[in-house]
Amino acid sequence: TAALLDGRVAVITGASSGIGEATARTLAAKGAKVALLARRADRLASIVDEITAAGGRAVAFPVDVTDAAAVKGLAQSIEDELGTVSILFNNAGIMLPAPIEELREDQWSHQVDLNISALNTVIGAFLSQLVASARNAGVADLINTASIAGKNLFPTFAVYSASKAYVIHLSNHLRTELGPKDVRVSAIEPGIVGTELQGHVTDQGATDWLEGSKDTLEWLTSQDVAEVVAFTVNLPRRVNLQEIAIMPTRQT
Ligand code: NDP
Repeated sequence: TAALLDGRVAVITGASSGIGEATARTLAAKGAKVALLARRADRLASIVDEITAAGGRAVAFPVDVTDAAAVKGLAQSIEDELGTVSILFNNAGIMLPAPIEELREDQWSHQVDLNISALNTVIGAFLSQLVASARNAGVADLINTASIAGKNLFPTFAVYSASKAYVIHLSNHLRTELGPKDVRVSAIEPGIVGTELQGHVTDQGATDWLEGSKDTLEWLTSQDVAEVVAFTVNLPRRVNLQEIAIMPTRQT
């Protein structure tokens, strides 16, 4: 593979499975130095071993991204170890649909704390490095994982969908401040991707709806999304894909 991202340092949250894992592998294969963030240290370690064996440069940084102090501390460690971050893939998230009248306040908080608050924390921790990278190299990338749920209406997904609408609106707003500093900001909006995400759903109705969709449509793979992320960060620096909806062909 041509090393298109040589010299770029990429931070990926939610890198222990699914979309984040596939993106870490893909960016590393294209020459980026990758920092993998998630809670499961064992999973991160084996992914790092595989990337390294394939000739890539990767380091695991086990962390709970809802721990703001820990994330801030890591930002400095990553810069010391790999260099100034020029790609931030802000991707960790959780989807917990349930009928709103069940009042699953624990699940509401979990989604808000991770999909919104931790997303903000991660941006805050790496922002100065992104701006410095853009100043030195002409471009840097902040890519936030939203969802098509942030635009469309799905019964029982209200809190999740609203958290992802936040991600889209935040991303579009940040462009107005960061674009003039050559930091591109993108929101990725996938439809259904087969990952561990569906395995955390506790609501039977939502699980039945998700499983039933397999009868009529082929879900995306994490690699499908990873390829789009790699494409986005490889574009000429004048080009910023602002919102990228990526749908299974048969999902409407
Ligand atoms: P996965 O469940 O496979 O990945 C989620 C990742 O987030 C894991 O690596 C998990 O690692 C990490 N994570 C969860 N909580 C924390 C935490 N507190 N601190 C650090 N890391 C954490 O699902 P996906 O790959 O599907 O999800 C990635 C993103 O894509 C999410 O934001 C999701 O909302 C979004 N998305 C997914 C779609 C889908 O259909 N799959 C569709 C649209 C958007 P660990 O448990 O080791 O911490």
